[in-house]
Amino acid sequence: MTRTQHTMQDPRSQYPALDIPEQRQKEPGLDSELQPKADHGETTYVGSGKLQGRKALISGADSGIGRAVAIAFAREGADVAITYLPSEQNDAEETLRIISKEAGETIAIPGDLSEETFAQDLPNNIMKAFGGLDIIVNNAGKQIYCDDITKLSTDQLDATFRTNIYSMFWIVQSALEFLPPGASIINTTSIQSYQPSAGLLDYASTKGAITSFTKGLSAQLIERGIRVNAVAPGPIWTPLQPSFGQPMEKLTHFGEQSPYGRAGQPAECAPAYVFLASQESSYTTGEVIGVTGGNWTP
Ligand code: NAD
Ligand code: MG
Repeated sequence: MTRTQHTMQDPRSQYPALDIPEQRQKEPGLDSELQPKADHGETTYVGSGKLQGRKALISGADSGIGRAVAIAFAREGADVAITYLPSEQNDAEETLRIISKEAGETIAIPGDLSEETFAQDLPNNIMKAFGGLDIIVNNAGKQIYCDDITKLSTDQLDATFRTNIYSMFWIVQSALEFLPPGASIINTTSIQSYQPSAGLLDYASTKGAITSFTKGLSAQLIERGIRVNAVAPGPIWTPLQPSFGQPMEKLTHFGEQSPYGRAGQPAECAPAYVFLASQESSYTTGEVIGVTGGNWTP
């Protein structure tokens, strides 16, 4: 029997504990250089029309969680626009190669989300390409490890906040002109929003902000019939980690501390985004779904 996301199995052994060799990439990391490879559901995710005809924007979907969400959304029938940084061209092409086999339209837009005008122009660019916009997944993120607040540069602080949280404000501000009732906004927050690591102070602070942004925005947008939710992943094996997201001694043991004893895979995050994007979650807004391997969110 072919394994799919529906196949019943012990979640602890669904994926092996990773054997992670020492590796370092410049930021942003590339999936093509990640060892071992991550699973984005390429061979397992099966769609069932949950997002038929929807038009979705997913930021940072060249790799990692974003790529898994792009694959799932495309297989659920959506038109999918992905964003990526110019240095991630090859990863973006791989995501496009996979999702362009599905029925919907696809587009990939390169650019830096820490730049206000790029973020603000995105909704309009997707309107031009697809003629509509129904789902926004604010997923792009920057994580650079630094365990001493006195060594944290203002440049890093600024870039992390602009990329992780300012961009969400900018995208939503300009998307509201287009989003119809029934639209869904999904933000990627993190277990770091609730259990911050000592070495991820700036990053964890943005994730706390994203969780608050999600709840507050949901209260503002329900008047328009738009829902706003978030997904809080735990340790997920993606190129964010070896590109200075973790110190080497933590990287080689990534995910081992979770109650499952293993890191999660991007493929295991995607169904939460599908649920929140689809009408199946009609009575859910301002909520955060944890995908943490057993580390509780409040
Ligand atoms: P990833 O590196 O595969 O994806 C992050 C993407 O963010 C990159 O591909 C890149 O395209 C984009 N990005 C970074 N800086 C950018 C910028 N300045 N402008 C535009 N795009 C930019 O890693 P991932 O782990 O899949 O990360 C996706 C999201 O998940 C992030 O928000 C991250 O904080 C969050 N997250 C990850 C984990 C984990 O353990 N991997 C855990 C919790 C939350
Ligand atoms: Mg990437």
